[in-house]
Amino acid sequence: MWKFDNCQVPNIKTPPPGPRAQALLERDQRFVSPSYTRIYPLVAARGSGAVIEDVDGNLFLDFTAGIAVVSTGHCHPQVVAAIQDQAAKLIHMSGTDFYYEPQTDLAQRLAESAPGRSPKRVFFTNSGAEALEAGLKLARWHTGRSRAIAFLGAFHGRTYGAMSLSGSKLVHRRGFSPLVPDIHHVPYPKGPDARTVPDYGRRCVEQIEETLFKRTAPPDEVAAIFVEPIQGEGGYHVPPRDFLPALRDLCDRHGILLVVDEVQSGMGRTGKLFAVEHWNVEPDIICLAKGIASGMPLGAMIARDAVMTWPSGSHASTFGGNPVSCRAALATLELLENGYIANAAERGEQLREGLLKLQRQHLQVGDVRGLGLMMAMDLVKEHGAPDPALRDAMVQTAFQQGLLLLGCGDSAIRFCPPLCVSAEQVETALHILGGILAARKPEKLAV
Ligand code: PLP
Repeated sequence: MWKFDNCQVPNIKTPPPGPRAQALLERDQRFVSPSYTRIYPLVAARGSGAVIEDVDGNLFLDFTAGIAVVSTGHCHPQVVAAIQDQAAKLIHMSGTDFYYEPQTDLAQRLAESAPGRSPKRVFFTNSGAEALEAGLKLARWHTGRSRAIAFLGAFHGRTYGAMSLSGSKLVHRRGFSPLVPDIHHVPYPKGPDARTVPDYGRRCVEQIEETLFKRTAPPDEVAAIFVEPIQGEGGYHVPPRDFLPALRDLCDRHGILLVVDEVQSGMGRTGKLFAVEHWNVEPDIICLAKGIASGMPLGAMIARDAVMTWPSGSHASTFGGNPVSCRAALATLELLENGYIANAAERGEQLREGLLKLQRQHLQVGDVRGLGLMMAMDLVKEHGAPDPALRDAMVQTAFQQGLLLLGCGDSAIRFCPPLCVSAEQVETALHILGGILAARKPEKLAV
């Protein structure tokens, strides 16, 4: 089914960047914003499944999925067919002012598959940040309260509301003040204690009551708590079991909305359609984007019907819910529910086992964590301190060897391949990583 099925992948014929890539990089450097964060010079020409071909004919195994976006793989034939069919019928008519089937169909599909029994409604956006903006506006509108709580290490996007909710890196904020006021950041339960100390998640939530609610943020002024069910940019941290249920309980006791940012963790990536399903929690608002339409620009904010009370004209978007993107999303959902979510769970376990084996073999490998195909591996120094330089060097070497990776957190490599990735491709990635680690000292004895 995939274009490169019969090819050897990776296959690096010309060390990247080759001559065509080099020519593009020179033009790009002159004309494109320097704010982008390219960490290696991949110039992509074509994609199919979990494979990217660059402009010089090199084949790469893609364990980034374009930052966790192409959920069904690059250019899945069913997604391409849906896009082509819709593009020939109706490209745009603005769902803000008019009606068309793909938007209503997708709203129904998402509303009916969102976790929990309450009826839901959907607002469409073009990106993750816009979905968070919509969530913040709706939460303020519905509750009539101004404040919000978010977590240190969180990343919610780069527009003003989303940036103000983020607590990830100074570079995202420096020079952009004043930000949206009344947003309070609290620690996210992560690290060794989160896994070993009993009730750690619940205690973390109690701290919000003990500190914030008693000293700086009256709970009756708090509109919403924004949380990533698995912290993404922050390092692919999976919270302890009791954390999200305790947060739900806290929200219920104070009339606060629970807003779950599933932009990275949603759409099947963790082995369930929504990551919160692992904790059996029903949020009031869910923000989606990235994997929703396999690469077409689309985001969505799903809210409980009883919460989405804002009136006509209070929020809208010209392009959000564009018919072509909605058709791509409908095709994506079909594929996810008919095999790729299950594949994410299976390949995720295979990847975890493989990474744990590397951890047993190599001192430089620290914590291995994640759910499904949202998996990370820390790189550490001898005494367990984070080693970002090693992580960065490994990502560069992997690129030169034809494996595309990205970092996250202090010193982790994240693994977020398309959900169609095969067992053989997972083995290939692990083999490449093992080779890179083996070429570096110190090593443990092989187990
Ligand atoms: N929320 C999370 C959890 C994300 O990982 C991201 C992007 O990485 C965003 C929001 C912002 O999404 P976008 O870049 O589409 O605005």
